[in-house]
Amino acid sequence: MASVTYEHVTKRYGDTTAVHDLNIAIEDGEFLVFVGPSGCGKTTSLRMLAGLEEISAGSIYIGDRLVNEVPPKDRDIAMVFQSYALYPHMSVAENMAFGLKLRGLPKVEIENRVKGVAKRLGIEHLLDRKPKELSGGQRQRVAVGRAIVRNPAVFLMDEPLSNLDAKLRVQARAEISKLHMQLGTTFIYVTHDQVEAMTMGSRIAVMKDGHLQQIDTPHSLYTHPTNMFVAGFIGSPSMNFFPAKLLEQEGTLWVDTGAFRVAIPSHKADPYRQYVGKSVIFGIRPENIHDPQYQPQGIQPAPVRAKVSVTELMGNEVILYLSTSDKEGILAEQEFVARVDPRTEIHVNQWAEVIFDMDRFHLFDKESEQRLG
Ligand code: ATP
Repeated sequence: MASVTYEHVTKRYGDTTAVHDLNIAIEDGEFLVFVGPSGCGKTTSLRMLAGLEEISAGSIYIGDRLVNEVPPKDRDIAMVFQSYALYPHMSVAENMAFGLKLRGLPKVEIENRVKGVAKRLGIEHLLDRKPKELSGGQRQRVAVGRAIVRNPAVFLMDEPLSNLDAKLRVQARAEISKLHMQLGTTFIYVTHDQVEAMTMGSRIAVMKDGHLQQIDTPHSLYTHPTNMFVAGFIGSPSMNFFPAKLLEQEGTLWVDTGAFRVAIPSHKADPYRQYVGKSVIFGIRPENIHDPQYQPQGIQPAPVRAKVSVTELMGNEVILYLSTSDKEGILAEQEFVARVDPRTEIHVNQWAEVIFDMDRFHLFDKESEQRLG
């Protein structure tokens, strides 16, 4: 087992800087997920750790060992690729045994390890098959199995579930989490899927344009996103954003969007007083907007009037697509989304009152897009 440290790590490809000055300390046994949109530098970050890409500047440590110059095979890591990279002419057993053979382990030990891991992953009956005789889900397990038999200090996984259908992906997600708990080894996992990141990671590193935006637990990313990018990236449907002004009237702070005003509860107001008069972005997640009929107990309700343009019944909830407007309907409309109780009787083309939970709002600086307060 081992910790992993990135110290001021930069990767340049000609004029493109794929990763800028990355600093992360990953603890021994952690499940760290790199997440971000396509091209943000997450795969490059993983490949530098694996030794598959050279580092342009900075240092990477596995445990206490500086590995910048250490060849991939000597880094004590195992990687599962998106493509699985199984050898097509070899059986499952041979694929799984390959790395151990290269290391010169005795035949009996190799056989025992392969069988043990195959049993754990439920692929014992597939050991004699070739990769082309396997389903996508089975191939994925073989790729994971091939990594596990090597008993590495760190597991690296690059989008290992992206070739599976939605249902299998959910199942495989849980299996990988379980495996991490059983093995207790450091896992570093790359995905563009924020749901995967949120459900699997003990910590998540959110990247954009080669820059680390925030590294935190799933709960902290969700409740305290450091900027509008993270706020919008984590959560589905995405957080609603409204350009607004902060006003103060008789001691009460108000968020005024032009179309509606909502009061900041007094126990939350102090950190924001310094921004009175400033242009801000008000953020609220769809799940924190409720149908008044079914609003949860103990929230800080603020009514907002809006027109419903689309409703989607999801079974356990209804997604409302709404747009605000001032009372005369003159000001520009602002669209937003709410996830409400499935019993709602709010319908399309209706003007409705919805309830914003002002215990769960977010404010960002309009220029820097950084979190305020
Ligand atoms: P994806 O999810 O699409 O794989 P990513 O977040 O993993 O994206 P990277 O593959 O790390 O992103 O790429 C980061 C940036 O570096 C991108 O702008 C990409 O075009 C660039 N890049 C990656 N590999 C190379 C390369 N071999 N040569 C030149 N540019 C590269």
